Amino acid sequence: MNRIDGRLQWMKDELDLLKRQSQQRLLTPAVILAEGWVVRGGRRMLNLASNNYLGLFQPLDAALLEEFIQQAAVFDSEVKLGSTASRLINGNDPIYGQFEQKFAEYKGTGSCLVFSNGYMANTGIISSLVGRNDLVFSDRLNHASIVDGITLSRAENIRYRHRDMNHLETLLSKADPLKKKLIVTDTIFSMDGSIAPLQSIVELKNKYGALLMVDEAHSGGVYGEQGQGLAHSVGLMQEIDVHMGTFSKAYGCYGAYAAGDSLVIEYLINKARSFIYTTSLPPVVIQAVWHNWTKVREGHWRRRVLQERVVLLREGLKRSGFNVGESESQIVPLIIGDNDRTVLFSDYLQQHGVAAVAVRPPTVPEGEARVRFTLMATHRVEDLAWALDLIERAGKKFAII
Ligand code: PMP
Repeated sequence: MNRIDGRLQWMKDELDLLKRQSQQRLLTPAVILAEGWVVRGGRRMLNLASNNYLGLFQPLDAALLEEFIQQAAVFDSEVKLGSTASRLINGNDPIYGQFEQKFAEYKGTGSCLVFSNGYMANTGIISSLVGRNDLVFSDRLNHASIVDGITLSRAENIRYRHRDMNHLETLLSKADPLKKKLIVTDTIFSMDGSIAPLQSIVELKNKYGALLMVDEAHSGGVYGEQGQGLAHSVGLMQEIDVHMGTFSKAYGCYGAYAAGDSLVIEYLINKARSFIYTTSLPPVVIQAVWHNWTKVREGHWRRRVLQERVVLLREGLKRSGFNVGESESQIVPLIIGDNDRTVLFSDYLQQHGVAAVAVRPPTVPEGEARVRFTLMATHRVEDLAWALDLIERAGKKFAII
């Protein structure tokens, strides 16, 4: 039972306001099924709301556990569900170093460092690279964990218009040349599916002597010959000071990394508080990441099929007259604008069997509420065709198209 005493009334008031503004967030149980389906709130739905882009997520069954046991034996070790301490204290199982060395080779960088998750990687990396008196140039649509990293660092947050290189250059040219500068960008923007103009950003960081950090959360596994990420696919690996990415999306697992020159990684080990002051990821998670990483590297067909599914859904939505913004990737927003209509539209889709999550401010700018679709390599063509039909009917019903 909810007991509200006077001291907590403000909480209730704020939550009531969120409800009135159709901005309340609810937790709905979700059980992932095969081939791009999910059971959400007891209902079976086509899963157009998952970051499991390559379809690599899988439950830990007896066969996989056996594989982990064999794999652990290679390290003269066992499957470990806990790490007992931070890496700098007592929790530095040999598997981390082995994994990081191999992963750095794959990324084409000198070194690599595993973080517990992407949120902690971004906050830890940014707050150690810059501090008070420094400047961070950040795309206006960068992920919340980047924004929080900048806030934590106390550096000045200079936001440039989304992918607007003229604006970025104007801001760089006005900045104090003596101050340390960091440019940070998502490579694929999480709520828009647009792609960062990395080549132009690299030119500007060279011209103005800035550091450059990229967040490959949504491009890791999906872009690059073996899924190394967007920077790799456009040949700019060596131009980037810190590559950050996650194992929670295309890798179908959990955790994150920073990759870069060994000097940068040594610095992060010594300075990144979200690395230093936390218990390391359980070694079994690294085993799981390693297992899926093998599939990412060999997953050429998964990347190809994913792109085919992207074209099918995005072009179908465009043909029906929906606004998909600047999407160029497996993230396809359907921009509606108004919060209430967005929620009604997404509720309707869910009631009729498509898991499609309403994304509202503050996650996206005011007036840009949307339903965000994401594709997976495991989606079947016939399921997507059925979903397109349903989405079009719902679009007409709610006067979106
Ligand atoms: N960066 C981006 C661009 C993201 O979309 C996300 C997660 N949605 C993160 C970082 C945080 O990663 P994690 O979920 O591993 O904390």
